[in-house]
Amino acid sequence: MSSSSSAQSRLIGGKIEFFCNCNRQLRVQTSTSRMNPGKRYVKCGECRVYEFLDDDLPSEYYKELVFGFFQRQRGVDTRPMVEALGKV
Ligand SMILES: [Zn+2]
Repeated sequence: MSSSSSAQSRLIGGKIEFFCNCNRQLRVQTSTSRMNPGKRYVKCGECRVYEFLDDDLPSEYYKELVFGFFQRQRGVDTRPMVEALGKV
């Protein structure tokens, strides 16, 4: 429980939804940056509110591991498109 928190969570229909102070609903996104890989965050484009929902990974080892996972995932996403273009 942090009092400096700007995003508020509410339980709606059995699901936790996040809202900003300006009453906008915030979409939960997952960070793929090297600093905070895999951490979920909510962001309000209106107020520049940016808040992580998850704690830091326990070590640099885990950060590299999760970051590497996202890098590979990106590679898999782009490859089929390149292959399709090559066949034309
Ligand atoms: Zn807001």
